[in-house]
Amino acid sequence: MALKYSSKINKIRTFALSLIFIGFFIMYIGIFFRTSPIIMTIFMMLGLLSIVGSTVVYFWIGMLSTKAVQVTCPSCGKTTKILGRVDMCMYCNEPLTLDPNLEGKDFDEKYNRKTVE
Ligand SMILES: [Zn+2]
Repeated sequence: MALKYSSKINKIRTFALSLIFIGFFIMYIGIFFRTSPIIMTIFMMLGLLSIVGSTVVYFWIGMLSTKAVQVTCPSCGKTTKILGRVDMCMYCNEPLTLDPNLEGKDFDEKYNRKTVE
């Protein structure tokens, strides 16, 4: 597991947000093609598709959030969500696991070396 590993929900949320910006940017480019309605329509459709896609991703995050397990982070004390067996705290990037078999294994080991305990 890579060290630069941010919370899955945060990652998806960043992706959804960038989709909105990309969508508006594509539509903005379309304005420059006012003289040819076909190209402008294509850009507008692509931009709209991107924004719709982001809405879908946001909906997906909502679905994932219901599956995620809420835990209190032992490091910063805030309530965070875990997706899957191993995830990170959304606030302090503390690696967290729900699987006792994974506790103390390589994922944690790397971090113990970094943060002296
Ligand atoms: Zn934390």
